[in-house]
Amino acid sequence: MSYQALARKWRPRCFADLVGQKHVVRALENAIIKDRLHHAYLFAGTRGVGKTTVARIFAKCLNCEQGITATPCGVCTACKEIDEGRFIDLLEVDAASRTKVDQTRELLDNVPYAPTRGRYKVYLIDEVHMFSNSSFNALLKTLEEPPDHVKFLLATTDPQKLPITVLSRCLQFNLKRLLAEEISSQLEHILKSEAIPYDLNAINPLAKAADGSLRDALSLLDQAIVFGNGRVLDTEVRSMLGTMAHDLIFELAEALAADSPARLLEVVNTVSDHTPDFSGILSELLSLIHQLAVGQMLPELLASDPGQVSRKQKLAQDISPQDLQLYYQIGVLGQRDLKLAPDARVGLEMVLLRMLAFRPLEYAVEAQSPPRVSSNVAPRSNFGTNLGSKVTPKPLPVSQVPPLVIPGAPVPEAPVMPPVATPSLPKTTVAVGLKTLTSNEDWHNLAGSLDIDGRSLVLARNCVFKSWDGKVLCLHLDSNMAVMRSKNAEDKLLQALQNYFGTKLKLEISSEKLESDTPAQREAKNKQQKQLEQQIAFSRDPFVQAIQEAFQGEIVASSVRNRVATEK
Ligand SMILES: [Zn+2]
Repeated sequence: MSYQALARKWRPRCFADLVGQKHVVRALENAIIKDRLHHAYLFAGTRGVGKTTVARIFAKCLNCEQGITATPCGVCTACKEIDEGRFIDLLEVDAASRTKVDQTRELLDNVPYAPTRGRYKVYLIDEVHMFSNSSFNALLKTLEEPPDHVKFLLATTDPQKLPITVLSRCLQFNLKRLLAEEISSQLEHILKSEAIPYDLNAINPLAKAADGSLRDALSLLDQAIVFGNGRVLDTEVRSMLGTMAHDLIFELAEALAADSPARLLEVVNTVSDHTPDFSGILSELLSLIHQLAVGQMLPELLASDPGQVSRKQKLAQDISPQDLQLYYQIGVLGQRDLKLAPDARVGLEMVLLRMLAFRPLEYAVEAQSPPRVSSNVAPRSNFGTNLGSKVTPKPLPVSQVPPLVIPGAPVPEAPVMPPVATPSLPKTTVAVGLKTLTSNEDWHNLAGSLDIDGRSLVLARNCVFKSWDGKVLCLHLDSNMAVMRSKNAEDKLLQALQNYFGTKLKLEISSEKLESDTPAQREAKNKQQKQLEQQIAFSRDPFVQAIQEAFQGEIVASSVRNRVATEK
């Protein structure tokens, strides 16, 4: 006997069987009974709450051979064929896979022709927000003057992405996430009907993990039945859900290693589907990051670790020690912020994206830079060398992670600056090397060439020059960065300045609202400018334009990167 997925087998075939969404059902039933049918309906709601199911039942109501009814017979040819997905006048389109305008047009070209068999020709367009602009235009034209024999049933998880012109021509219904109790009772109903043995205690965790989506609940139930060898047992369900959560932690770490924001968000989406304990996920991710960092220093510890050894080894190899430290730091701070976020999922997404956004992109650039920092650090990772990694150990020390809080900086680059003025900088009055300091430009050059790292480097990079009389150097620190002040950092900066000038001096730093750029701000601006130029160049590229035209694509501006800067 072939096994049919529960979600498919138990797809409701009439409104009475539908779980939840009573408000929508009542409105539709009333419209049918009172013969007040609109020509376009929009069903909005998160995944798995019944949007297309409602639409299909509605299509049966419209086309049942017994007449337009809120309770389709279910036995006539039209009802049967709609249930089996082969009714000729129900045209189902998944907009997510059909974004080309030609195909939409072809589909809509047939609108004027009368239905072949049914009373109405019904267009069911799922994920309609994925339509391209031209597809929306084609749809809009039809919605403006719809023939009487056509009904549009649109479904979307993201109604905000629909043009207002389309929205205003649809009757909109918002489907709600199902309550855990609604899901639980449906799961029990199914288990009883299917004569599958189950623990009552196993039901709630499944319903909770489904987070409002009945479809997800049924797919979890399918898995639980397989996992429990035909039974649904408490301990096994919990262990299954735990394993899935565990897996997702690895997937998050792997998405970080791949530097893929898209993948990260995809995994968060899965987290949200199955185990929406976002702060738990973050702390488990931190614990994994910790294990990886330890493993990079002491590979033998990682090798003796129970479970997922090779997966951990691969991650320890793929993520640099600096990045691990950075991720950890951002994650720990993020735990605090998670409680303040509008909702926990948004909070987790922001923390994860921050990890990537602040990941230095310097590696390629660094290779061409003067070896100012590489001399003082030996490669930390044993994996890079022992395991024949493709990743060269990156010589940047942990403490050189660039400042995390540069205002307005999209992706801070490495704080490594050549010891001489780059040609793009304005001409300085006094070249560094002559050991004088009279302007902010001089300070920029000097700050980039001092032998400092960590907090003292961050401190220097966030100051502007005020005055220097040969004995006392006055700097103004960006008041947003006042938290970077510490005696230790200032001592180190002073020491480096004394070494540089070859004399004892006094350093006076005051936190001020600045009027000129700090080195860090300048770099952030340059970086933004570069990004902008790259975006413009990219969008003007004839090949890119051809692709855009062919696929009705849009450029995601922030994703445009210079290959040289990002390729490892
Ligand atoms: Zn029927």
